[in-house]
Amino acid sequence: MSTAALRGMPLIERYRDFLPVTDATPVISMGEGATPLVRLDKLSECLELDVHVKLEGLNPTGSFKDRGMCFAMSKAVEEGATAVICASTGNTSAAAAAYAARAGLTCAVIIPGGKIALGKLAQALIYGAKVLAVDGNFDDALRIVRELSENHPIALVNSLNPYRLEGQKTAAFEVCDALGDAPDVLCIPVGNAGNISAYWMGFGEYRQAGRSTRLPRMMGFQADGSAPLVRGEVVTSPETIATAIRIGNPVRGEQALQAMNDSAGGVDAVTDDEILSAYRMLAASEGVFCEPSSASSVAGLIKAQAAGRFTPGERVVCVLTGNGLKDPDTAIAQSGGVIEIPAQYAAAEKALYGD
Ligand SMILES: *Cc1c(COP(=O)(O)O)cnc(C)c1O
Repeated sequence: MSTAALRGMPLIERYRDFLPVTDATPVISMGEGATPLVRLDKLSECLELDVHVKLEGLNPTGSFKDRGMCFAMSKAVEEGATAVICASTGNTSAAAAAYAARAGLTCAVIIPGGKIALGKLAQALIYGAKVLAVDGNFDDALRIVRELSENHPIALVNSLNPYRLEGQKTAAFEVCDALGDAPDVLCIPVGNAGNISAYWMGFGEYRQAGRSTRLPRMMGFQADGSAPLVRGEVVTSPETIATAIRIGNPVRGEQALQAMNDSAGGVDAVTDDEILSAYRMLAASEGVFCEPSSASSVAGLIKAQAAGRFTPGERVVCVLTGNGLKDPDTAIAQSGGVIEIPAQYAAAEKALYGD
């Protein structure tokens, strides 16, 4: 079936054979997944590679988190939960709040105060979650929700929850289906390191099942001010403009390092300037608007290419994890701004064509 035909079909139905689903598992869905894989012609030519981006910002709440959340929520309902909770840099809270609303569960989210993008906050609120902002970072928020979920009958839907990774691995299946096989390289942003771990599981299971023949090199990218896996130690005060990956103590760190090692890939850091430069380039020269965290995959690709990490012509997939509209403040701050004119033809003509 084509991607178009698959869009709208619950991810759990499409990949039922690969997921721990039973007859008792309800299917909580909003048509997540089946996102486009788009070739970047200009960047491919410039880097002498075959570069594609997976537009995960086209999921129902605007990020890849929907893949894992539809499944985590379905399993929570199957297991009799009536309430869910998560810590979030923003997108997990948007996805949890939306899928909880659909499933009829109450939802609480804890976010780092002042450090989540405007669109994500708007989503969590309008979907009806109870939103707590801590005076601390994501790692503080996660510590608190873990304890709450141990003391109260409330299901934890962070990527500690194994069903999140099960749902997220389906993105790797889609990449293989779209290209006919796995790519040479997968470039992906790394925050809590759940997504890179999920992709690696997905590529492995697909090959095992004979649906692909090879495995990609897994290249993960963290923001320079928030790069615990690159530094080899916890970062106590992570800082970066890429708020979705502003995490100093990744829960799936070991698993992610294993994936990067086993696949002959690696982990590296990119600066906020490199991230923002890739972010602007994607929008202005390829027409692709992602959030800053997502652009770290492309910033990382550009850096790795400059360091001679590829053979010419290799096929690379960069995962663009979230939609640019999530963070309008950064988009506006990074752009030229509007030109104000009086309501007159001559003024418009002058502004566009000069005197
Ligand atoms: C959650 C998120 C990430 C990081 O994914 P992890 O699984 O935490 O590594 C990257 N980009 C965006 C937009 C996200 O929402």
